[in-house]
Amino acid sequence: MSRKVSGSLAHKVVLRRRMLVYYAFLIAGVWGMMVSCSLPASKGKPALRTQNVIIVVIDGPRYSETWANTPGLIPNMSTDLKPEGSFLSTFLNDGYTYTNSGHAAITTGVNQPIDNYGDEYPANPSIFQYWLKASGKPKTAAWIISSKDKLHILANTQDSLWQNQFMPALNCGVNGPGTGYRADSLTLEAVKQVLTTHKPNLVLVNFMEPDGYAHAGNWDYYVRGISRDDRYIKELWDFISKDEFYRNKTTLLITNDHGRHLDSVDGGWQEHGDNCEGCQHISLLALGPDFNKNAVIETRHTLVDIAPTVAKLLRFEMDSTVVVPRLDTVAVAFAVDSLAVGTQKDSVRIVSQLDTTVLQGRVIRELFLEKYLR
Ligand SMILES: [Zn+2]
Ligand SMILES: [Zn+2]
Repeated sequence: MSRKVSGSLAHKVVLRRRMLVYYAFLIAGVWGMMVSCSLPASKGKPALRTQNVIIVVIDGPRYSETWANTPGLIPNMSTDLKPEGSFLSTFLNDGYTYTNSGHAAITTGVNQPIDNYGDEYPANPSIFQYWLKASGKPKTAAWIISSKDKLHILANTQDSLWQNQFMPALNCGVNGPGTGYRADSLTLEAVKQVLTTHKPNLVLVNFMEPDGYAHAGNWDYYVRGISRDDRYIKELWDFISKDEFYRNKTTLLITNDHGRHLDSVDGGWQEHGDNCEGCQHISLLALGPDFNKNAVIETRHTLVDIAPTVAKLLRFEMDSTVVVPRLDTVAVAFAVDSLAVGTQKDSVRIVSQLDTTVLQGRVIRELFLEKYLR
């Protein structure tokens, strides 16, 4: 109990302690070297080169007017861009085949029924919110740039833990929510301006002309919309390839929210919204520094796989638990889009409850170069 010890004894105790500390460090050092030598794989896995992701959604073209018949209406994508990346030939919207639901599936990774007039936020947080939170960047580092004004809903969520937080910047419709649709040429100009001015790292673009003109029953303008959007995407890829900030570190994902009815189904090409092959079969063309080039992937993937793939590319985590609003499907008739602003709201929507489930989407591993998958 005495704190007083003889001088030589105190000296020995101190020495012994020093030796113990020395041995401890020695053992830890040797062990550390052994561990690092026995795990060469962790050293060899390269970092992804992607710093930016741009998702372009061509709204509502049918596969029979796009990738089923190339070059056809899409010579730029099918001839110039396809060899630069990977093309998924069995890519589906197997959820709800209308605009806001298809887009919400892309941005939240969850298929959910949702109001199609822009009056309902997705039930779950989006990749924009996850990424802005993880990166700590200002809202202008993520953008939604949309020909359809109603897609402003993609910036927010019903989830009370995320609502009104980490929201991306918006450039939607003629002049914001409620102002109507604008031409895709104007949206392309807005995209170039935003990329030049704000240098965002995550962007979703919506081009609406194929869908809008199909609903108007104008076949010539419907196919013109497809070929215009094909040209705009080439312009965007050329812009990315030349721009100092984006070149060689930007992934471009080109997809659709939904297709359109087969000719044999319920009015054919003018409408969409069910689970027929024409409505469900869409496409994904994926270009970027981390992806295989000149590859066709036939494995089945769906819209909800995009969000986890973006999360991998930009290195953020998504919650594995999500909610899905359940509808009384007997009572509901989905209204589809219209070019007209202020369309009569004749759809009945009854959300009975939220089901909690796990995130269904998976990273599209086939896209990635082999060295990232080891
Ligand atoms: Zn259909
Ligand atoms: Zn539509």
